[in-house]
Amino acid sequence: MRNISIIMAMKSEAESLLQSLQLRKVNRPFRSGIPFEVYEGNLGKAQLSLLVSGNDSDHHVDNVATVPAALMTYLAIEKFEPDLVINAGTAGGIAGRGCEIGNVYLSSGKFCFHDRRIPLPGFDQYGMGLYPSYDTSIIAKDLQLKTGTVSTGNSLDLLEKDMQIIEENRAIIKDMEAAAIAWVCRTLSVPMFAVKAITDLIDEDTPTATQFMKNLHQAATNLQVKMIEVLRYLQNHEG
Ligand code: SAH
Repeated sequence: MRNISIIMAMKSEAESLLQSLQLRKVNRPFRSGIPFEVYEGNLGKAQLSLLVSGNDSDHHVDNVATVPAALMTYLAIEKFEPDLVINAGTAGGIAGRGCEIGNVYLSSGKFCFHDRRIPLPGFDQYGMGLYPSYDTSIIAKDLQLKTGTVSTGNSLDLLEKDMQIIEENRAIIKDMEAAAIAWVCRTLSVPMFAVKAITDLIDEDTPTATQFMKNLHQAATNLQVKMIEVLRYLQNHEG
């Protein structure tokens, strides 16, 4: 695992990591109009590329959620031919299953979607996704990180039906990109896992958006610290 692409949705999640890795910005990495920012560099023996989704040209906010994430992953794999993709970001967690604000999780099991409900034979399972995460159990044990199944949807808020599907899939982490990234990686046979810092607890009463804004800075700092540990670990171990 010496050529690693890191995919991140929000600039505010990526800033401290970019600083501590001292990556350099790549000018015009893709054709004109593609908003993604690309950074490159090294950490020990590892060659790193980090992509951030950039801003939407009409709405002037980060290009979060599944559509930009899938495109960004495809372009990263085409350009850098990584032997590992890591989706780093923030996420909601289930307090009742042990998640706490600021915890950093590695993905385990299978990435699923909780808002692709297609009640037709075969399509119901397709909708759910269920793409494998790279087995992070040894890394998690060595670095004393928690692991959990990640469920992805295109909304920050949560409908009752979404929660039901999250629970059916025994997921404990909720985000807006991971399963989309995992689909591209599975399709192109590139190992992939996620590193997610918890900004909000989805089974608590305070609205997600309020919790998210309050805890984003702390979560991004923890994410940066743990990402450096994960990257140092990977560049020292043969994949
Ligand atoms: N109001 C925020 C919007 C960010 S969208 C802002 O303008 O800063 C939320 C981002 O954080 C997504 O990239 C998603 O992957 C992640 N995220 C954090 N908590 C989440 C949750 N509870 N549900 C879904 N995604 C979450």
